Amino acid sequence: MRQRLSLRSQLSLVLGGLALAILAGVGGYLGTLATNELFTAQQALVRGVAQSAAELLASQLRDREREIELLSATPPLVQGALDAAQVRESLDRRAALHNEFAWLGVTDPEGTVLQSTGGMLLGRSVAQREWFIRGRERVYVGDLHEAKLLATLMPAQPGGEPNRFIDFAAPIRDADGRLRGVVGAHAHWRWVTGLVEGVARRQSPEGGIDALIVDQQGRVLYPEGLKSAQAEGQAVLPAVLANGRLEGALRFGDGRDYLTSEAPLQARTQVELGWRIVARQPMELALRPVRELRRELVLLGIFVAAALVLAVLVLARRVSRPVEELARIARRVETERVVPAFPTQPASLELAHLSDAMRSMAQSLLDKEQALEAQVQERTAALQAANAALEHLATRDPLTGLHNRRSLDTRLDEALALDRRYGRPHGRVHGLLLIDVDHFKHINDTHGHPAGDAVLRQLAGLLISTVRASDVAARFGGEEFAVLLPELSGPLDAVMTAEKIRQAVQATRFGDIGPVTVSIGVSLATPEDAGPQPLVDRADAALYEAKRGGRNAVVLKAAEPAA
Ligand code: GH3
Ligand code: MG
Ligand code: MG
Repeated sequence: MRQRLSLRSQLSLVLGGLALAILAGVGGYLGTLATNELFTAQQALVRGVAQSAAELLASQLRDREREIELLSATPPLVQGALDAAQVRESLDRRAALHNEFAWLGVTDPEGTVLQSTGGMLLGRSVAQREWFIRGRERVYVGDLHEAKLLATLMPAQPGGEPNRFIDFAAPIRDADGRLRGVVGAHAHWRWVTGLVEGVARRQSPEGGIDALIVDQQGRVLYPEGLKSAQAEGQAVLPAVLANGRLEGALRFGDGRDYLTSEAPLQARTQVELGWRIVARQPMELALRPVRELRRELVLLGIFVAAALVLAVLVLARRVSRPVEELARIARRVETERVVPAFPTQPASLELAHLSDAMRSMAQSLLDKEQALEAQVQERTAALQAANAALEHLATRDPLTGLHNRRSLDTRLDEALALDRRYGRPHGRVHGLLLIDVDHFKHINDTHGHPAGDAVLRQLAGLLISTVRASDVAARFGGEEFAVLLPELSGPLDAVMTAEKIRQAVQATRFGDIGPVTVSIGVSLATPEDAGPQPLVDRADAALYEAKRGGRNAVVLKAAEPAA
């Protein structure tokens, strides 16, 4: 037979499984939702760094550009001699105000440096420099370049990094618009990168987000490491980034994936630099909060699932234990045949009903069983009584209550059969008396048949009280009686008993009938007797002799000696 699971196990399995499935589903859904949310938030953070850096850099560059433009329009430059001390003072003031300027200078229209901060490059020609050529025409903000002329004059950067600058320039014109010269400034590249770095640091205090400056041609200007790698011919940026705006997870030249965002430098300067800021965060860093959230969700899930399974187990136990208890009680009813105590406080209404129903069922079954047993006993007793009555009816004479002829025959047969089988113990012998009422016809005739019956009944009572309990007194037929006397010590016993009977009858009054007498024939069984008949015949012969001899007498008839 298939092994059946207990209700508790089934409940635990189904509810536990269901709870786990729901938990996994909801947890998975929430986890995905939260993951997406976190990823979007992280993307926004990276985008924020790119945009803030781009905006800050753009406004700072514009401010410096404005500064130089305003400087070109100050009276000392517009009116006076460009090599006057006033001009030098004006340049120094600017340099002191903006320490990002490494160099400020003024040239004549041909490119010879007339004035400069710190006197650097004084008298030298910058006619070939981009900033001077462009600055003659209009306000200029130049691309990044290494300091060729200044390099020899400036202290080296820490770490051996070459001095790099970004140039600002503006034409100096007189009141009539004629070119008097060019004012130029070299700002430290360090200043620019410091701005970008500062934004990344501020917006992502835990670090991990770095900002790149990329020029119009897709060349990395900052940071230095990427710039030099690119200069060596390595592909540094993802191809898509080099081409256009993109954001998302991108693989960079170092083979690592970064969460990336890009913002153009909308410089609002008069010269469009076309730079872009690329902010990026290594994917493993960007995804760390997501992974942490997932781990927490899994831990929470495990905890909740364990709690649920525990709760289900407890609940299932509450359901199944009373059922098992009821089963035990039912078995006790079966084996012990008593109604034991049922649980008084079942866990639920249904169990209370079940318990009640079982108790009353057990009670009524046991009651019925007892009633049935009592009935069976009663019927058995009645049957025994009926059998006894039937037996009495079959063996007794209805008028006198003595054994009937058939019963006597049976007793005779039994006694003689035992003798034949085992021999006569201690020489004991069975005797038979045949008793006949004298002149009974006369009693009937004189007093009526019912009076005769009454005499017969009285005689029967007399017989019973005279003989021993082991003797068998029977009505032999009509007004004749017989008494079987088992185990006599000899003929004298039989004759004495017969005589006792005869005298007792003679001494008894039978109402107004007058004296009644009986004649008795006596015989004794012999081993030669083939059955009861010879014994009866001898008794009958003895009776005949008693009648012939005058009645009211006892005659013993011995067996004829075998011829
Ligand atoms: P004795 O034996 O002395 O020779 O004379 P007796 O009158 O008794 O003669 P017998 O034995 O021949 O008669 C028996 C009578 O008993 C005949 C019958 O009417 C009567 N009798 C037999 N059975 C019953 C009975 O059940 N009730 C009554 N009232 N009378 C019976
Ligand atoms: Mg007779
Ligand atoms: Mg008679």
